[in-house]
Amino acid sequence: MLSTMQDGQLSLAHLLRHGSTLHADSEVVTWTGSGARRATYAQVGKRAAQLANALRGLGVTGDQRVGTFMWNNAEHVEAYLAIPAMGAVLHTLNIRLFPEQLVFVANHAEDHVVIVDGTLIPLFAKQLPQLKTVRHVIVANGDAASLEAPDGVQVHSYDELLAGQPEEFDWPEIDERSAAAMCYTSGTTGDPKGVVYSHRSIWLHSMQVCMSDGMRLDESDKALVIVPQFHAMSWGVPYAAFMAGASMVMPDRFLQPEPIAQILAAEKPTHAAAVPTIWQGLLQYLDANPQDISHLREVVVGGSAAPPAMMHAFEERYGVPVLHAWGMTETSPLGSVARPPAGTSGEEAWKYRYTQGRFPASVRARLIDDDGNEVPWDGESVGELEVAGPWIAGGYHGGVDPDKFHDGWLRTGDVGKITPNGYLTLTDRAKDVIKSGGEWISSVDLENQVMGHPAVAEAAVVGVPDEKWDERPLVAVVVKEGEQVTAEELREFLRDKVAKWQLPEYWTFVPEVPKTSVGKFDKKRLRAAHAEGKLD
Ligand code: ADP
Repeated sequence: MLSTMQDGQLSLAHLLRHGSTLHADSEVVTWTGSGARRATYAQVGKRAAQLANALRGLGVTGDQRVGTFMWNNAEHVEAYLAIPAMGAVLHTLNIRLFPEQLVFVANHAEDHVVIVDGTLIPLFAKQLPQLKTVRHVIVANGDAASLEAPDGVQVHSYDELLAGQPEEFDWPEIDERSAAAMCYTSGTTGDPKGVVYSHRSIWLHSMQVCMSDGMRLDESDKALVIVPQFHAMSWGVPYAAFMAGASMVMPDRFLQPEPIAQILAAEKPTHAAAVPTIWQGLLQYLDANPQDISHLREVVVGGSAAPPAMMHAFEERYGVPVLHAWGMTETSPLGSVARPPAGTSGEEAWKYRYTQGRFPASVRARLIDDDGNEVPWDGESVGELEVAGPWIAGGYHGGVDPDKFHDGWLRTGDVGKITPNGYLTLTDRAKDVIKSGGEWISSVDLENQVMGHPAVAEAAVVGVPDEKWDERPLVAVVVKEGEQVTAEELREFLRDKVAKWQLPEYWTFVPEVPKTSVGKFDKKRLRAAHAEGKLD
């Protein structure tokens, strides 16, 4: 029997209309280095219409791809809204990809137009001649004349292009299953792979971000959006904020601890999301330059495991609760969120909060062992995590790497265990697990323990070849400024925290842990540096 319900399409054109009218006074605030420029959602809606008109004028039709090579700012939000709402496909280009990867993804997605921030022109211009399908470059927040374009490519100024365009656009009816936006994985293994989100997947995911078991965004919030818009769609915060009417604060290119602290002081956001390395950096800065940040009702940490010591530091020293979450570009990215079960408190609640979190109703999960069998959710059995659901990728653009998907499930490449009440603890990425004498050592667990030492700013652990045990952990330690600690002291510190056979014997002290294009520990580079004898 068919239902008697309507079948309205969940389209971003509707989201744009909703946010810019019902939440007309909410704001997108863009940091300029010394202050901020502000635009209301009503203004953003009008500018989005102007951008859509301008793109139509440049010949963008159908599901053509429009790339963005931008920081987090108001223009990037306008692009987020206008491009999918007009029926085209937004492609957020990661500005930190290696040049050959940038060329690969822009060609693979067949970007027709790219919007580039002025400060990123030097980075972009070098690759532009190799971008085979790009016909137009639009320069936002900068001097279009400074970009030398190859034959066949026209360069425009964002503001000039929008000036005089109608502030309304006849947003089309869009099939909710059609492509809205695409984002490539950061390519830590092989070529980056394109994930293509639908209007429907973004809509449903935005609702989850706002939900009580998500990030709880609502109209009273002001969200500091630190996760780059090119990294898994800023974890869905911009669309969710537009849906809920929460204001957004965009840091633009000012991502170092000091300017982040300035933004916090000036704008007093209630919410913020970023990878652990950003929070570690801010913590160190704040410890040296104390400042009240209790206006933050919660900060979200994900992308790599949140070190418990850092979670405690924020909560106990600054009164800011840290919410741990897990996800991937392929999962839109919200996959699980570590809110403790109702009724828990103290130590018991903390144990849940250290985990990668519980799955929301729309995300199904299972663990698969080496023989392909499902393992139970008993909080102990370990397997590779597989997930499924309406905002989980079912394949990559162009059908590459089909082995990542089977029977409607995404193989995440993450290894972990799940409690009977659905809390996931990741022990590692499959490729980072350390196999020592037939046993597995969790690099994440060791990192978290070492980072619990007061003199340690950061610690990354990788497996390195060992004649006797196959692999043993190597710990790369960054010591806090003004502190001192030896490998022997750190081993002593770990003695009552990890099993004896896991105690690392290889230690190296480094000024900085190499990071990936999205700010995670780059373990591939650490392993390579060790293999080349550069870490001993
Ligand atoms: P990339 O795969 O290029 O690093 P993603 O941002 O898509 O880019 O990374 C997803 C991966 O990040 C996950 O598969 C997982 O390994 C890791 N990750 C994300 N969140 C967490 C977390 N809270 N704890 C541990 N690992 C995490």
